[in-house]
Amino acid sequence: MGPGLHHSSELHYIVVLSVDFVPSYIALHRTGELHRRADLLEGMLRRCTVCPLVCGVDRIANEQARCYTGYLPVVSSWTLHFGEEPALGGERGVGNIFFGNCNLRCVYCQNHAISQNHREERVRETSFEDLAAIMVALQEQGAHAIGLVSPSHVVPAIVRALAIAVDRGLRLPLIYNTNAYDAPDVLRLLEGIVDIYLPDLKYAESDLALQYSKIDDYPGHARAAIAEMHRQVGSALVTDAAGLVQRGLIIRHLVLPNDLAGSRASLTWIRDALGRDVTVSVMAQYYPVHRAATMPLLDRKIRASEYERVLAVLDELGLHNGWVQEQDAPENYRPAFEDRVDPFRNNELRMKN
Ligand code: SF4
Repeated sequence: MGPGLHHSSELHYIVVLSVDFVPSYIALHRTGELHRRADLLEGMLRRCTVCPLVCGVDRIANEQARCYTGYLPVVSSWTLHFGEEPALGGERGVGNIFFGNCNLRCVYCQNHAISQNHREERVRETSFEDLAAIMVALQEQGAHAIGLVSPSHVVPAIVRALAIAVDRGLRLPLIYNTNAYDAPDVLRLLEGIVDIYLPDLKYAESDLALQYSKIDDYPGHARAAIAEMHRQVGSALVTDAAGLVQRGLIIRHLVLPNDLAGSRASLTWIRDALGRDVTVSVMAQYYPVHRAATMPLLDRKIRASEYERVLAVLDELGLHNGWVQEQDAPENYRPAFEDRVDPFRNNELRMKN
């Protein structure tokens, strides 16, 4: 999940204008369906099948496995964030909630201080009531949408908290900002709850995903997950009168050095499986952090020639909706999670807004 984007170049995107958008989950809550979904999702925690790793531990009894998360979610930080794609953040920003821990172990993770640091993050375990209060607080601060960052392993808690938040007045669309290692069964239970899907598509080759994110069959699982997201919301982005996205799918692709992300194969899959109208966000912001700083193929930023090749593939494939990130974007969009209240405090993009 890219925490900071700087987009200078906007491809155009299909817009369906919704004058008076109401998030889908409002209707589900009226009928009691939101609680029923929360119950079904919570049932998956008993022998955890919440993500494709299928660890089988009893998270209701607080057993933990790969994602180091028991019954309650870890909320590592929450803040208004102004660095997402322009049509998501607008002038008032996305209300991002950063969940601690992760089901992947990316060696270059920008958020490694919260995603791969479970012993310290444990103290940030958060009740459903407090998570609901955070959602409402972000709405009161003016957020355009609630951004759920790294949500895959805590979906049951999110839906449980959402029901409480709706009772307290929440009515912002949810952005499901994910690494895409999501279980289709879980995503199906999010139909009508999540309006905006924002998945990464990180790799096209399983062996590279295993090497650099310590995960099996990333391409297979991520593609199945993204196909399910697309089935739910389609290719067109629904926006409000100000041009802010209220519903839809935006697929992020971070270009890695030495073509480790398999950009041509990933973009080709998008075009062939989902069609050329789907919205993509191509990102150039890779920089070597965490373990990548000492790894031979990942210890540098991408070259201009590498990025230009990927942009040429976009053109060649006719993928014409979305954004491409400026390659020489300011470096201070990087999060600094030592400051949990505002990890983007030094973010030049934020000051510009
Ligand atoms: S959500 Fe966590 S415990 Fe459950 S299957 Fe995934 S990694 Fe394992």
